[in-house]
Amino acid sequence: MKKFSVVMNDEIHQQLFNHLIREDGDEDLCFATYVPSSGSKRFTGILSEVIFPLDGEREVHGNVGFMPEYFERVLRIATERKQGIGFLHSHPSEGWQGMSRDDVTAETRISPAVFATTGLPLLGLTLGTDSSWSARFWLKDKTVKRKYNRDWCETVRVIGKGLKITFNDNLVTPNFDSKKQLRTISAWGERTQEDLSRLRIGIVGLGSVGSIVAEILARTGISNFTLLDFDAVEEKNLDRLTNVFKSDIGRAKVLAVKDGIRRSATSPKIYVDCCEYSVCEKNGFENALNCDIIFSCVDRPWARQVLNFIAYAHLIPVIDGGIMVRTNKRNTKIVGSDWKAQTVGYRRACLECLGQYKTENAILEKSGMMDDPSYIKGLKDSAFINAHENVFVFSSHLASMEVLQMLSLFIIPSGVADVGQQLHHFVTGSMEVDTSKVCNENCYFPTVQGKGDYSGIEVFAKHKIAEKFRLSRRVSNGK
Ligand SMILES: [Zn+2]
Ligand SMILES: [Zn+2]
Repeated sequence: MKKFSVVMNDEIHQQLFNHLIREDGDEDLCFATYVPSSGSKRFTGILSEVIFPLDGEREVHGNVGFMPEYFERVLRIATERKQGIGFLHSHPSEGWQGMSRDDVTAETRISPAVFATTGLPLLGLTLGTDSSWSARFWLKDKTVKRKYNRDWCETVRVIGKGLKITFNDNLVTPNFDSKKQLRTISAWGERTQEDLSRLRIGIVGLGSVGSIVAEILARTGISNFTLLDFDAVEEKNLDRLTNVFKSDIGRAKVLAVKDGIRRSATSPKIYVDCCEYSVCEKNGFENALNCDIIFSCVDRPWARQVLNFIAYAHLIPVIDGGIMVRTNKRNTKIVGSDWKAQTVGYRRACLECLGQYKTENAILEKSGMMDDPSYIKGLKDSAFINAHENVFVFSSHLASMEVLQMLSLFIIPSGVADVGQQLHHFVTGSMEVDTSKVCNENCYFPTVQGKGDYSGIEVFAKHKIAEKFRLSRRVSNGK
């Protein structure tokens, strides 16, 4: 069954709060437009712009209501923009809000016109006085004419420097074990644990760092995972994959790591979606759009480019990391090693501007050239392609830094959501922190911010290597 969610940036949230939560305590209303973000299991509405009422377009005293002129103006604007319509109002109480009979009447009444005009379901939202949101979509009934059914959202997400989520308690119940997680809960309280247990976390790339991130999250009480990797376990991976053993050789990495999560998990209920595709393929891309936060544990430029796109266009924050090991010419001695962790997305510099990948390399990989031995042989410096040197302890430190970035983003300890880009040096044991970076003036990614499915480009494509790997696995598993 499809799940539903809403995401908005903190600027829109603030505009709506200022308008809807009135000093006189009365309820108020307004409309907004939204664009869809379609994951394989989750449909999200990304609020794009508020359409405030003009004088005389609504009545606030007594029973709040809008005039037909206002609704007609909204229909015209949404049609011009080719976007969906959200109808918003406030309640004078706190937390996720239910609906009064009048609310239901108002939203069912406008659902047919909204769907007929925009082709997208009406999105209803209610704001509480404590900044909690609640939301539902009104979907056309497949069999009964002119009937619209209410599908409640599981979450409403507000993204600023931090990520704030209101959860629908009826659909996503808190899921933790206060005995097993006693020490964790004593560190940050039950409320935080409840919310952590309801997040859906994507881990893209189940290599060394990704498998350790999975282990840390499972112990911490994360309960909903989406794992993405097209690769299988090989003998040479055994020195650096966590919870992966000799008996896993030949199995998909996502399946091996899933078993590990189940063993290590401290939450009573664990849900793991395994996707044996690259995030650069349609299937992998759509799985990533189901998530609230994504870990980028990949070492290739194309996947980084796609994840960077998701962070901006779909407003899903991405936490990325990378390790660089330098050896002497004969590879007999380590000269140095550094690793970086950063969170990208709304209000933050992107992976490309942070120097985590180059567009030309992403294009090269997409074209297949990067995996063509004759092409690589001709390159003067192929180091960026074959940089696979790594040690478990470097990865575990980086994995820990990445999860800490996630906790800053979501828990916002003492009000700090963004710790900046962190660069750790193995040789000196020191860490540099840079909180000043912003996207370059001409960066493409801020231009697709919040555009979701309507960004106008298709970032996924056929991934020959991933297809080849899956095929060889099926063959070898079949023996
Ligand atoms: Zn109401
Ligand atoms: Zn940028």
